[in-house]
Amino acid sequence: MSIETASYAAYVVAALLFILALAGLSKHETARAGNTFGILGMAIALVATVTKVVDDGLDALPVVLLIGAVLVGAAVGLWRARVVEMTGMPELIALLHSFVGLAAVLVGWNGYLHTEHEPHGHEARRLDALDLLGVHSAEVFIGVFIGAVTFTGSIVAFLKLSARIKSSPLMLPGKNFLNIGALVVFVALTVWFVADPQLWLLVAVTIIALLLGWHLVASIGGGDMPVVVSMLNSYSGWAAAASGFLLDNPLLIITGALVGSSGAYLSYIMCKAMNRSFISVIAGGFGMEAPSGDDTDYGEHREIDAEGAAELLADASSVIITPGYGMAVAQAQYPVADLTAKLRAKGVEVRFGIHPVAGRLPGHMNVLLAEAKVPYDIVLEMDEINEDFPETDVVLVIGANDTVNPAAAEDPSSPIAGMPVLEVWHAKDVIVFKRSMATGYAGVQNPLFFRENSRMLFGDAKQRVEDILRLLGA
Ligand code: NDP
Repeated sequence: MSIETASYAAYVVAALLFILALAGLSKHETARAGNTFGILGMAIALVATVTKVVDDGLDALPVVLLIGAVLVGAAVGLWRARVVEMTGMPELIALLHSFVGLAAVLVGWNGYLHTEHEPHGHEARRLDALDLLGVHSAEVFIGVFIGAVTFTGSIVAFLKLSARIKSSPLMLPGKNFLNIGALVVFVALTVWFVADPQLWLLVAVTIIALLLGWHLVASIGGGDMPVVVSMLNSYSGWAAAASGFLLDNPLLIITGALVGSSGAYLSYIMCKAMNRSFISVIAGGFGMEAPSGDDTDYGEHREIDAEGAAELLADASSVIITPGYGMAVAQAQYPVADLTAKLRAKGVEVRFGIHPVAGRLPGHMNVLLAEAKVPYDIVLEMDEINEDFPETDVVLVIGANDTVNPAAAEDPSSPIAGMPVLEVWHAKDVIVFKRSMATGYAGVQNPLFFRENSRMLFGDAKQRVEDILRLLGA
């Protein structure tokens, strides 16, 4: 068997392992095995690719460059994955998507320079003989477009998720026309490029796509960022598939299609969970109105100290804890688990209500609570617990904000209107743990803080929960 055939066989094995990895990652019990399949698949793919390049009998330089790139990439990847905080995962993922986008742009440009720009070169003559030059041009153009949109879109997502720029939506006048206009121009330029592949057309589409990617993600508000991250994941998959066609690499095509379609499906599920229009979000907030600016006077908020909170808890018979991003920042899950155990030992019914987008990545709160050994059966999804708030004595909102905002349910003009939330305000008493009156990730004021039955417990969530634990005694 030639090295060429062997490497294709290895690609098929790697592709199967990637499919098994996706299947494994869909359940808690099989996630570890899924990860192992993924690592194995990637290792096989890398060895097969390097072997194929070495076998192609190229000069030493490309081989050295390839191995150098693999080593540098692996070292950077290992370092980032080891040091990244759980709360920093979405921004790291967004940054990695931008690399896929950039790679697709470079592969596309390289494909062009190798063929159309060198019409008498070997590759151009081969494609011409097969009558495939037009198909190749279309692959180049589409690959560069998807890659450039993914590149700048992911960079904006990274900047928003890491709070380097504001998460509120950019509202340029006529923004929907700008997006649709860019798509129409792209289609027209693609037809032109297939008929006559000129360099300036490729430059034009690269610039248009870079601007479109930037604008699409900048136009989406903070509350919809979870969908944006999975949408960019999908785009990066299609960008990789486009590169696969150009490089004639079946594994890239299969992997890209897997990532592209699973990312699209995840975006769809998230939109349904958050009651958002899928089309509107992927079209850069199509049809969403600019937030009207909130000058509502909500009145005065009331405060409580750790002593008051401990007294309320000592008298309660049912407690629901709704954690959010602030619990992750404060690393308060360990004292929260201790508080849960202490209250349960005193006969108080304690349960957790988890919003599907609480924190900064899907399942964020579940992972933190599992880490702190909170029993699994008292951690409930939003839909399972939302009807129980009216019969609950005390709700502890620990570092959550957008996910408990009544404006989503009650104010149709709110930017997060329609998003299902944990209806904590129906409980007898609500204690909100946070450091200030600042807004949550979506940048929207939270009327919960001003309700009759709400009390603010200011300070770092971990310290405040530890104070309460001390006051509750042995
Ligand atoms: P939010 O981001 O809305 O609010 C978190 C709150 O925690 C802040 O108001 C902050 O207030 C408080 N906080 C921060 N640090 C501390 C601390 N050390 N101690 C106590 N409080 C603290 O959180 P939610 O979880 O309710 O909502 C998640 C938001 O993130 C949603 O808008 C969601 O759409 C978005 N998102 C979710 C993703 C996902 O996949 N889950 C991905 C990307 C975005 P203060 O500063 O006053 O302390």
